[in-house]
Amino acid sequence: MRNKGEERVFAGIGVSPGIVMGKVLLLEAPGLSFTPRRISHVLIEAEIARFHKALERAKEELRQIRERLLSKGMVQQASLLEVHLQLLEDRMLVEGTEELVREELINAEWALEMMLKRVLEAFERVNEEYIRERREDVRQVVQRVMRHLVGHPVPDLEAVADGVVVVAHDLSPGDTAQLNIAKVMGFATDIGSSTSHTAIVAKSLGLPAVVGLKEITAHVRGGEAVIIDGNEGVVILEPSESTLKKYELKRQRYRYLIRELLKFAPLPSETLDGYHMALRANIEFVEEVRALGQYGAEGVGLYRTEYLYLNRQDLPSEEEHFECYRKVATEVAPHGATIRTLDLGGDKFASRIDVPGEMNPALGLRAIRLCLLEREIFKTQLRGILRASAYGKVRILLPMISGLEELREAKMVIEEAKEELDRRGVAFDPGVEVGVMIEVPSAAVVADLLAKEADFFSIGTNDLIQYTLAIDRINEHVAYLYQPLHPAILRLIEEIVERAHGEGIEVGICGEMAADPLYTLVFLGLGLDELSMNAMAIPRVKRVLRKATREDGKALLRELLRFSSAKEAEAFLRREMASLFPDDFIRCEA
Ligand code: PEP
Ligand code: MG
Repeated sequence: MRNKGEERVFAGIGVSPGIVMGKVLLLEAPGLSFTPRRISHVLIEAEIARFHKALERAKEELRQIRERLLSKGMVQQASLLEVHLQLLEDRMLVEGTEELVREELINAEWALEMMLKRVLEAFERVNEEYIRERREDVRQVVQRVMRHLVGHPVPDLEAVADGVVVVAHDLSPGDTAQLNIAKVMGFATDIGSSTSHTAIVAKSLGLPAVVGLKEITAHVRGGEAVIIDGNEGVVILEPSESTLKKYELKRQRYRYLIRELLKFAPLPSETLDGYHMALRANIEFVEEVRALGQYGAEGVGLYRTEYLYLNRQDLPSEEEHFECYRKVATEVAPHGATIRTLDLGGDKFASRIDVPGEMNPALGLRAIRLCLLEREIFKTQLRGILRASAYGKVRILLPMISGLEELREAKMVIEEAKEELDRRGVAFDPGVEVGVMIEVPSAAVVADLLAKEADFFSIGTNDLIQYTLAIDRINEHVAYLYQPLHPAILRLIEEIVERAHGEGIEVGICGEMAADPLYTLVFLGLGLDELSMNAMAIPRVKRVLRKATREDGKALLRELLRFSSAKEAEAFLRREMASLFPDDFIRCEA
């Protein structure tokens, strides 16, 4: 047994930067304890009625949270709760539990736990990311019912004390909605990745978060002191005096760094010789758009709209699309918003769109391929985007285009959507631009052909690297081969930019590389017109940009292109950037 008050350090994935110190608020005990009981025949109906009462209470609770979300205008998060509400109607779960009570003569808690295990086991056999997400939903829903069965309803989080760090197995949209955000300083969770809900919410709230801590919930009771270091992905429970002092210093230094960086937000993103490179924001949720101004984003460079389709049983309506996009377009005015059409399939899945199980989902029926097959789904979204174009500057971006035919076909569907709106007498911008994501190697190679018929390019380096180097971007075993400075990648980007500019169209980067200031000068040298990234990264990139000239970028690129090895190129770039910008790189990486 450890001694009480002993410092413990947990390593996870830092998904939202910053350092905070606070008290643990344990949101969800890993398992609620109950007494398994055998019951007699005469008690069967009473036990089932007790189960239904708990179900009803859980539903009522979820409905209230949903109303609260809707009243705060968080439409998308509210719709995520639909999944939980629907799970409470799930026949396997509800009838299965009743059957166990009847046949095994056991109490409802015991039956529900057995049923949960069966459902989870069924999910376990499917090796798909989206199923894992659903598994968490089932667990959370059962947890909620169980709390009512055992008489421990979810704690009133509106009433939590100041300065808490939420520690949870995972955070459901419902949990986050219940939190009094003013009092929450950070998040730490057992599971999750950089794209998990906790990560996205934390980033958009600007709160430090560490996920993937495996079993931190098993090590806390609630109320103990905790440090969250979202920069390094570390959580320290019951820190010693000396650790606290060390982190207090780190925190001050980080705050100073952020204050300094934010001074760059309102400044033009221009080099010393007056070259303007647009720095735009990547967003996943419409709610994020409000915060963009403070980071100096020139509008939205990539709206990943597939998040509108996830975690729900129905499809978004044209009206819903329109409302989201109109909000984004009007909030970012006078800048514009680039709205990417749905990039589902691969590792992202919507319950209502039937994508067959695939051996190779990244190479399968995803993104534009799926849209061209499911025309009505595609057109519903397109009409929503087009209608929003009457309210602000909106561009359409097509994901996963592999060649000219797909672009032509997609443009035809866009024309059909325009005709439909015309027939209905609905306003839209007839000149709305249509751009192509360059993220499939074949598209990069035929960039000259695509550039003749597209209005702009956006290079998706996350996928371009994955497909060019044949490295699964979510497989940790080949992560070491994921090399943005591989000569093949640099040559491809160089070629794409040349072809785009040859046809007089703009080209940007919207993959994760854009957010890393290590590459800013390289992109400058390559002549990119735009970089799109998570908004918080913008000031850092801008600071580097404003201290350089185009010639600095070109000179660096010339050197970099001489390397035949990605490793050597990276080592060279790190040295060069540290010597050119000692303040930025030494302080930023500290
Ligand atoms: C990319 O592939 O670089 C990209 C921006 O798209 P996503 O990460 O959504 O696939
Ligand atoms: Mg992509």
